[in-house]
Amino acid sequence: DAKKLIDRLAREHSLSKEDYAFLVRAQDEETAAYAGALAAGVRREVYGTDVYIRGLIEIGNICRNDCLYCGIRRSNTHADRYRLTEDEIFECACEGYTLGFRTFVMQGGEDGAFGVDSICRTVRRIKRKFPDCAVTLSLGEFPREDYEAMFAAGADRYLLRHETADRTHYEKLHPAEMSFENRMRCLRDLKDIGFQTGCGFMVGSPFQTPETLAEDLKFIETFRPAMCGIGPFIPQKDTPFGDRPAGTAEQTVYLLSLLRLMQPKLLLPATTALGTILPDGRERGLAAGANVVMPNLSPLSVRKKYALYDGKLCTGEEAAQCIGCLSRRVQLVGANIVIDRGDVKS
Ligand code: SAM
Repeated sequence: DAKKLIDRLAREHSLSKEDYAFLVRAQDEETAAYAGALAAGVRREVYGTDVYIRGLIEIGNICRNDCLYCGIRRSNTHADRYRLTEDEIFECACEGYTLGFRTFVMQGGEDGAFGVDSICRTVRRIKRKFPDCAVTLSLGEFPREDYEAMFAAGADRYLLRHETADRTHYEKLHPAEMSFENRMRCLRDLKDIGFQTGCGFMVGSPFQTPETLAEDLKFIETFRPAMCGIGPFIPQKDTPFGDRPAGTAEQTVYLLSLLRLMQPKLLLPATTALGTILPDGRERGLAAGANVVMPNLSPLSVRKKYALYDGKLCTGEEAAQCIGCLSRRVQLVGANIVIDRGDVKS
């Protein structure tokens, strides 16, 4: 039964795809509570009560891609486009350092005009000023040589959600011009180059099934990323999936627990999307195995424009307010935000 499978996952860190699909189907309050308690114990053993923070700098929302679920897709003519300057990004990092951040995440759309040279220059500038900090990039798909240049410039980590490990499902979420193979090629290159690499997927995306989720879990089990970002799909009204139902907080939290049991050292964020669909979603994620939060460091003037989905949390708050509020919230579940790069434990 489900509890026995969960015990086996905790012991052996591996299950068959069929067993993963069974566990996805078996989710109910009792099973989720069982997995959550076990996962919280594992998290405590590996990371204690530490919660790592990442300062998210949304560097621009100009994107050449047309992902059907995403509010900054190129076909969305309602998106108010922006691109931060290199100086603005650097200033965000400076503010973040003062607030206690030791990891900065540069995330954005795939914007040809913010090229690899700009990315590398900005990484070098941040790393030179703050040698005790890590820089994470989350800027989409590039040729291997470009990833090599970013790594050489000093970037430590790269986040590229695989979105779904099922090719047919991938093709339903993306236009024909985008390629499942290329996404997977990027992830392999990133890991091979030496980045702490993160993959991940949306929970409850259109056409997702227990079988596609089982593919995701098996992919993560074999790929062994350093990080894994999962959050609920949330519709954005100006996209083709604007009237689809959102994913649920319950399923997201349950999957966070399964991931913690599968890979005890995984860096696992309780995402903003989770906090958006449920007011205490991030706290619940932390209580059930997550160990990372990613407050927003973007300038207030652009926060509302980086609208991947509707209703996004904290678009009106200063970075300092966000971190103060999160520190208190995290303490409610017996955890503590620490001033640390927060690398994956080896
Ligand atoms: N362009 C880069 C890339 O493709 O990896 C980084 C930015 S992209 C907007 C970051 C992530 O946002 C995606 O990997 C996707 O999973 C998530 N996302 C996009 N639209 C979303 C939605 N409607 N609901 C929840 N998450 C969404």
